[in-house]
Formats: sequence, structure tokens, C-alpha cells
Amino acid sequence: MMAKTRYPHAAETAYFREIQRLVTELGKVTLQVFDEQIKPQIKLYGQDGVGYVIDGPLDIIQRAIEIIKGLSLGIFASNEIRNICTRFLNAVNAQSKANIQQQARIIGIDPTQTEPWLDEFMRSSINENVSYISTIRDEYFPKIEAIIYQGVKNGQSIKSIRDQLVERIGMTKNRAQFIAVDQTGSIFGQMTAKRHQEMGVNKFKWSTSHDDRVRQAHRVLDGKIFAYSDPPSEGLPGTPYRCRCVAIPVFGNEPR
Ligand SMILES: [Zn+2]
Repeated sequence: MMAKTRYPHAAETAYFREIQRLVTELGKVTLQVFDEQIKPQIKLYGQDGVGYVIDGPLDIIQRAIEIIKGLSLGIFASNEIRNICTRFLNAVNAQSKANIQQQARIIGIDPTQTEPWLDEFMRSSINENVSYISTIRDEYFPKIEAIIYQGVKNGQSIKSIRDQLVERIGMTKNRAQFIAVDQTGSIFGQMTAKRHQEMGVNKFKWSTSHDDRVRQAHRVLDGKIFAYSDPPSEGLPGTPYRCRCVAIPVFGNEPR
């Protein structure tokens, strides 16, 4: 009986929650500074003449945005982000390792005992994820600056500006989810492929999660056997976005 390849759902969920926690924190300080420091200035800006004085509402709004930026540096602290990504990679690796150890029992070896490629794979995957998470913050500020300045200058209501900020925070959370889902599938898919090939397995059987969320293009691949050197146009299982399919090793002497 062939041991299944189990997709690392728990690692994905934990990673998503950790990134989402940072974004929630960022959203919280944004709205707090908006309510306490920016709102009163928007009210003033609308009054005659006040928009033109030095140290007027726009200057104070600019300083308030700088305060949010300063706080965001603490939330997206580089050692914190690196720890989150390291925990994530370790969790995906642990799941992959457990799968492979079980699958390799059939040939009586543990291919995970010596893996010279693993350190570099882990390091580069961690670095890549650190940069994805840092980008969330980098992309956030030009957006909220545009919402606040354009809103103020175009005379939008405070409620409308605040609603747009809330919407932007929601979109930033979606971005966090995209990263967690995309990275789990693709790192796990690559790890599985590498480990199968390291133990001499050159073919894999595509296996979907067999639920109603499986896309049609993958449903038709279920149970089919491919060479790692010649995967289907969809790529390796797990690597297309939101793909939860996995590769099951096909050993050389296995009947088709
Ligand atoms: Zn799939």
C-alpha cells in the first residue's frame, strides 16, 4: 500500500494567520491615528483660509502618516518577519519529510538523512518569503497616502475616506492570504519533487484532494502518471495557485 503525500494544510493556515496578524495590527494603528489625528485636520482643511497657513492641516496630516509609518516598522520588524518565515519553512519541511520517510520505507531507506541541497533551498525560500512580506508594507503606504490626500483635496467626507482605508486594509489581508496559499503549494511541490528524485523516483502520480474545490483542469489529471522530466502543462502538483494536489511517488518496479 503506497503511502499518501499529505498536503501541509496546518503549515499554510499558521503562516496565513501570522501574516494576517501583522496586517491587522497595521490596520489598527492606521485607523487609530486617522481617527485621533487626521480626522480633526480634515475638518479644519475645509474651512476658509486654513488650508494655506504654514503648519496647516496638510502638514499635520503628513506628520500623522509618518507616525503610522514609524509604528509599521515595529510591526513589520525584520527579525519578526524572518522568524515567521523560518517557522513556516520548518513546518512545510517537517510535513514533507514525514511523507517521504513513510514513502521510502518500501525501498528500505531514509533519504532525508543526508540532504546537501536542503540548507540552500530553505535559505532561499525563507529569503523570498521575507521579501514578499516586506513588500506588503512597502505597497501599503503609497495607497493609503493617495486615499487620504486625494480624499482631503477633493473634499470627500471623512466617512468616505475612512471607508476606503478599511477597504484597503481588507485588500492587504487578501494579499497576505495569497502569499501563504501560493507559497505553501509551490514550496511543498518543489520539495516533494526534489526528494522523490533524490531517492531515485523519476515518475509521480498526480493526486487531487478529491473534493468539490478541485479545478476541472486538475480533476482530469487525477491518477495519471508523469515523468518529473516531462510534467503536464499545469506544472508540478501544488505549484499552480491554490492547487492542493500532490505527487505520489511511482517506483520503477510498480505495476501501472
Ligand atoms: Zn490542483
